[in-house]
Amino acid sequence: MQLKEVLLKNGFHFNKRYGQNFLTDVNLLRSIVDKSGITDSDVVVEIGVGGGTLTRAIAEKAKRVIGFEIDTNLKPVLNETLAGLDNVEIIYKDVMKMKTEDIERLIGGRFSVVANLPYYITTPILMKFIEESDMVDGITVTVQEEVADRLCSKAGSSEYGAITASVDAVGNAQKIMRIDRKMFYPAPNVDSAVVKIDVNKKKYDIKDMLCYRAVVRSAFLSRRKTLVNNLMMSFKIDRKTAEEIVLSVKGDLLVRGEVLNTLDFVRLQEEILKRNIKF
Ligand code: SAM
Repeated sequence: MQLKEVLLKNGFHFNKRYGQNFLTDVNLLRSIVDKSGITDSDVVVEIGVGGGTLTRAIAEKAKRVIGFEIDTNLKPVLNETLAGLDNVEIIYKDVMKMKTEDIERLIGGRFSVVANLPYYITTPILMKFIEESDMVDGITVTVQEEVADRLCSKAGSSEYGAITASVDAVGNAQKIMRIDRKMFYPAPNVDSAVVKIDVNKKKYDIKDMLCYRAVVRSAFLSRRKTLVNNLMMSFKIDRKTAEEIVLSVKGDLLVRGEVLNTLDFVRLQEEILKRNIKF
């Protein structure tokens, strides 16, 4: 039976609040899973199981799938669509309310994330799994195309932002596929894209991740202000100190945060640490 029929049969009502736009095309779903590179030795976490179509495609390839779903109205639907799969476990919880260490304990080892993310929590979910966990090997997510472009953008471009620098510090993001809005049920107002992030926490030698995050946040505090002004504001430092820091990293007092690349942010972080500035 097709997903649409199962949803109808179970009287399921889509909840816009939860970003419920489901993928139903089996070939497309298999192609996403193929490109994610997961194998039969991988444990995969799926965030937002929905009707279970992506879950099934993952379960065909992976060793084990642990899926999270906030909407308990999907229980009868998933009981049908995932019937017969013995390597799938669904946890009906709001993943954002779960502590990352509790999720890790539940999984009990290294894992990858494959998900068609609810748009309203895309950034917090990415940050949760990329920054808070050391157990994640890779993340393959379907997101709004605008977010995908942001994740894969270069320093200085209009799409470049704090999320780009945060992800690039600990991995490599690559847009691997576009998905037309018509492929979703119901169809949203925008197109999507699949982004694959290969996580590598040792990509840079970042001494203090909290400080790194603080400098990235500061650089994008106000796009119209210079980096010197943003640093003064966020770290409560005087102009002379902020100018010294900026000169040592970029050699240009009028530089704006949005042109700094990841290595510049790493060096900025070192300058803050060196001076014992509070962050
Ligand atoms: N994976 C399915 C697919 O590809 O068709 C569904 C994707 S749909 C874009 C996002 C799903 O995430 C919805 O089923 C929604 O109910 C669920 N969701 C939204 N917020 C959530 C949260 N905080 N925790 C867990 N699941 C959530």
